[in-house]
Amino acid sequence: MTLQDFKLKMISELSSIYEMDELNSILNLISEDYLKIPRSKILLADEIDLDESNQTLFLSALERLKTHEPIQYVLGKTSFMDLEFKVNNSVLIPRPETEELVRLMLKEDLDGKEILDIGTGSGCIAISLAKNLPNAKVTALDISSDALKVAKENAKLNNVSIEFINADIFEYKSDKKYDLIVSNPPYVLESEKLLMKQNVLDFEPELALFVEDDDPLIYYYRIIKFSNINLFKDSLLFLEINDSYSQDLTLRLNNYFYDSRLFKDFQNRFRFIRAKTFNS
Ligand code: GLN
Repeated sequence: MTLQDFKLKMISELSSIYEMDELNSILNLISEDYLKIPRSKILLADEIDLDESNQTLFLSALERLKTHEPIQYVLGKTSFMDLEFKVNNSVLIPRPETEELVRLMLKEDLDGKEILDIGTGSGCIAISLAKNLPNAKVTALDISSDALKVAKENAKLNNVSIEFINADIFEYKSDKKYDLIVSNPPYVLESEKLLMKQNVLDFEPELALFVEDDDPLIYYYRIIKFSNINLFKDSLLFLEINDSYSQDLTLRLNNYFYDSRLFKDFQNRFRFIRAKTFNS
């Protein structure tokens, strides 16, 4: 079987699930990873003969993709902020909008600062901050020990040192103060499930995504309270949010913080908030 034969088989078996451009990018990712050929050479590689072990790899990837499993889980990795991250279904696949959140934070003066990431998942936020801020001290907390296993591997893979805490933020108390707290907590409403794709619903961890419709800001209220105690004066809170609640959250934040600012994501939706603790 040549790469071209596989390509045709994949297109015929997956075209009801994926658009053609998605299929092409999936094929590129698989070929790059399994055949170790650079993306620029893949177009010229159609005639490559897949040996027995590669055929097994390609065909088993195809079987998993047919069940709507995301390509990132099939390959066990993805890229975020130009870094490689391992992923499995204990952690959410890092989203492009979260890269925007990291870039917003990197505009601040965080050299040598204490940073806490609440609900770290794969560790993508904490690790990419640590990588870009070599003097910062980064701590990452998650309730899921399975997620922390992945995050720890990712810290090692990317050669950064992070302090990990396995705790439930609703229970967690500490005297430690931070210069910046960041969180991308669950913010998708149960009722929004109807609008979501099977690849998300069947494979990604519900714990990291969903919140009850009747208490949609429960994580935010807790994080705001925690941050009010555990941030130094004149320090920063950054949150990724559901745009339907940007006004409610801003109002709530204004009780404890000042200078709350909303930022839009690349889809023009209010997706991030930056706020500061008072300086006296
Ligand atoms: N942005 C993610 C999504 O729409 C949700 C992330 C989250 O709940 N924190 O799938």
